Amino acid sequence: MADSDDIIRNEAESLLKGGLKTAVYPRADDQNMVIKITDALKASDGSLEQRLIIGGFTLEPVEYEEIEQACETCMYYLVHRRYCELPELDLPVEAEWSCNLWRI
Ligand code: SF4
Repeated sequence: MADSDDIIRNEAESLLKGGLKTAVYPRADDQNMVIKITDALKASDGSLEQRLIIGGFTLEPVEYEEIEQACETCMYYLVHRRYCELPELDLPVEAEWSCNLWRI
């Protein structure tokens, strides 16, 4: 499991470092936006690239409304596995990454 997580995490990182344009904004700061974004994820082909784009992934925390949004402070982050357990994303991540579905 750890090995396959590493492969996917590295692939995500290289896509983002390569300049993949992701939907950093708007952030899902109300229930309507959460539903809109999760619906778009469900309707997508589920590829890594589409999850990164629709989820608005960044390699650094995003400062939004005076809060630093990073995976490590998100309720969906599994610390020991460095993993996002939000079902629509279901993705190995890094503590300092961020996405538009961040939630405390
Ligand atoms: S929902 Fe986004 S910010 Fe939260 S753990 Fe998952 S990828 Fe990170």
